[in-house]
Amino acid sequence: MSHTLFISDLHLSEDTPLIRKRFLEFLAGPCRDADALYILGDLFETWVGDDDIPAPFNRKVVEALNELTSSGTAMFLMHGNRDFLIGENFAKACGATLLPDPTEILLYGVRTVLTHGDQLCTDDAEYQTYRKQVRSAAWQRQVLALPLETRYKMALDATTMSLKAKQSKTVEIMDVAPQAVTDLLRKYEYPRLIHGHTHRPARHVYRLDDHSCERWVLQDWTTTRSGTLRCDSEGCRFVPL
Ligand code: MN
Repeated sequence: MSHTLFISDLHLSEDTPLIRKRFLEFLAGPCRDADALYILGDLFETWVGDDDIPAPFNRKVVEALNELTSSGTAMFLMHGNRDFLIGENFAKACGATLLPDPTEILLYGVRTVLTHGDQLCTDDAEYQTYRKQVRSAAWQRQVLALPLETRYKMALDATTMSLKAKQSKTVEIMDVAPQAVTDLLRKYEYPRLIHGHTHRPARHVYRLDDHSCERWVLQDWTTTRSGTLRCDSEGCRFVPL
């Protein structure tokens, strides 16, 4: 049956070669039968710029993604809060299309809104301020002009800072804000919603203004578990890998 796969939050890094191994198997296996693969952010734990594509770890991922798209599976990519510096060169090298966040698609007849999910965590004011800064074109231009080595160090600092910040934040603050979800569902006139980011895989059902909406939260990949959301004309379901 004609179907599409969604994943997010793999956080690929040289520290976890096992996750990359499983991802490469996924690309060479289950993805080949799919109409399309959507990666909704945080494919990489850090991405310092497309001039880092030649690094051996990255190159292998790009090659595998390119093999997938060459085989006929379409691939769409959205930025996450870790890999927001992925650019058009990366997308081109993979044969992928970069999507704005959020994006609305028609998925086997069902209007579906895709987002990474960090924009929905509106209770985390500190993070939203940071997000605004690092997503600005001026900041990105400035940073991308720095030497690669400097950017590696900045990425490392950002990871340390984000880990520290997480320790002092409550579980509720780091989850999506119910009001932000409701606002998005109303704005897009009650679509199905698919996002990642929170690492809390689930299917939520809302009854809103006499409409019924589904919110699917994708699972993150770890060294012990990985999975995908499979959607077809009959609906969506989680498939462990
Ligand atoms: Mn994320």
